[in-house]
Amino acid sequence: ISEHEIVTEGYQDRTHYSIFVAFPLLDEEGAHLLIWTTTPWTMVANVAAAVHPEIDYIHVRQGGKTYYVAKEAAKSALRGEYEVLGEVKGADLVGRRYRGPFDELPAAAGVEHRVIPWEDVGAEEGTGIVHIAPGAGKEDFQLSRVNDLAVIAPIDEFGVYIDGFGDLSGLYVHEVAMPIANNLKDKGLLYRGEQYKHRYPVCWRCGTDLVFRLVDEWFISMDPLREPMKEVTRQVTWYPSFGEDRELDWLAHMDDWMISKKRYWGLALPIYECQACGTVDVIGSKEELRERAVAGWEEFDGHSPHRPYVDAVQIACRACGEPVSRIRDVGNPWLDAGIVAFSTLKYRHDRDYWNEWYPADLISESFPGQFRNWFYSVIAQSTALTGRPAFRNVFSYALMRDEKGEEMHKSKGNAIWFDDAAEEYGVDVMRWLFARANPDSNLNFGPHITDDVRRQFILPLWNSYAFFATYAEIDRFDPMDPAAQIPLVNRTLLDRWIISQLHLLIAEVRAALDGYDPDRAAKAIERFTIEELSNWYIRRNRRRFWKSESDA
Ligand SMILES: [Zn+2]
Ligand SMILES: [Zn+2]
Repeated sequence: ISEHEIVTEGYQDRTHYSIFVAFPLLDEEGAHLLIWTTTPWTMVANVAAAVHPEIDYIHVRQGGKTYYVAKEAAKSALRGEYEVLGEVKGADLVGRRYRGPFDELPAAAGVEHRVIPWEDVGAEEGTGIVHIAPGAGKEDFQLSRVNDLAVIAPIDEFGVYIDGFGDLSGLYVHEVAMPIANNLKDKGLLYRGEQYKHRYPVCWRCGTDLVFRLVDEWFISMDPLREPMKEVTRQVTWYPSFGEDRELDWLAHMDDWMISKKRYWGLALPIYECQACGTVDVIGSKEELRERAVAGWEEFDGHSPHRPYVDAVQIACRACGEPVSRIRDVGNPWLDAGIVAFSTLKYRHDRDYWNEWYPADLISESFPGQFRNWFYSVIAQSTALTGRPAFRNVFSYALMRDEKGEEMHKSKGNAIWFDDAAEEYGVDVMRWLFARANPDSNLNFGPHITDDVRRQFILPLWNSYAFFATYAEIDRFDPMDPAAQIPLVNRTLLDRWIISQLHLLIAEVRAALDGYDPDRAAKAIERFTIEELSNWYIRRNRRRFWKSESDA
């Protein structure tokens, strides 16, 4: 699952079997680094041990062995009596080599283990020496880049140990804590173990503990598209206008586009990588796939190009002739989202229809994030396929917040559900609030703000209408009656003035809407209703209507 899902929902209290493990130093007989981990499954992927260069470490003797441990952590980490032999800084330990806990496994063959410096190491928990497994943790992986460490990735997409891990191969990642602890105990490397309660990331859908897995992904090389995409971006009219700069800024700095995802459902990426010689083919159409197919076409025929059916098809490698299957990955959802101007307009099946509708006059979406997601994806694909924009105008807008301008959250208790708002504040009030909002800035929403809209605009509008309806009824006014069609010259000055104001308003609203500027249109309508119609025209005319009442 994505990092975003972990951050927002996913930590829970969990109890895991944590272990203290001794790593034998190669250059000092009987001496060990003492490390602690709450994830024993990562032990097989260990390649380094990290210390804080500034922290004090002590060297202690216990029984026939000696251990290095942070001075501050010694009391809580060690069990029983110990004799302090000396004290060093973390920096003094950096670079020393040790024997890995699973060096006997084929997967760890030839891997050099050593002590590295890391500013994030603390002595509050554990031993002040952190076991580093770049193939099993995100921060560990980043450290491997900086320190040029080997990477051992132990599990497959189902969380099962792959070949090369001895007795562990074939076991599920969540059932190896005890086997690993016992293995280390047999080798004399387990110092002690204990149940440990901590906050741990879990799957918000099913509650399973999450583990980190290192994977290869597929990317589109964006450099050849960078300049053409900028050109297309400039051909679009952006509302608000700063959108163009934001998009161009992203295009100037974008990296290659990661398009793959380790999922089952989704767009089946038509990439075929030969296992024999490494040649990669990308299939461009169903027809091309049929022509290239050497197996499985019958099984696929008649189905949409998704898993599992499309995966039955194999093609022949264009280099070596071996049969090749599709890669397992599906497309990142933004890849799907960006192809909308083609997929929904029958690009593949009815090019005349597509030509009639492409490009769209207008697209609209809330902008935070979209300059590098949806807008980006649409621009990338329309540039690659046609060299021109998929839309002429984009109207985007900021976010909705609560009345104080803070993010709404269910957990924070400030979320307002749409149905409740529609019921309590009224949908016309909400529509008007949205229509008059400046799209550049966040829209604050809540009972006081909607009440202002009701009092300041909706009520004057309603009262004006009610005033008209009341007297029109009394006078039996019929707008279709030719007698009601009074020429302008015969009208009062005030009538001619309000009709003139109305036509000015129509012109302004039309210009605003043609320019995709709804808040300007809404504010013009507000001003007309409150000032010209209600405050001036109706107030100045009351007597006429009273008179007409007595005339009737
Ligand atoms: Zn799950
Ligand atoms: Zn090949």
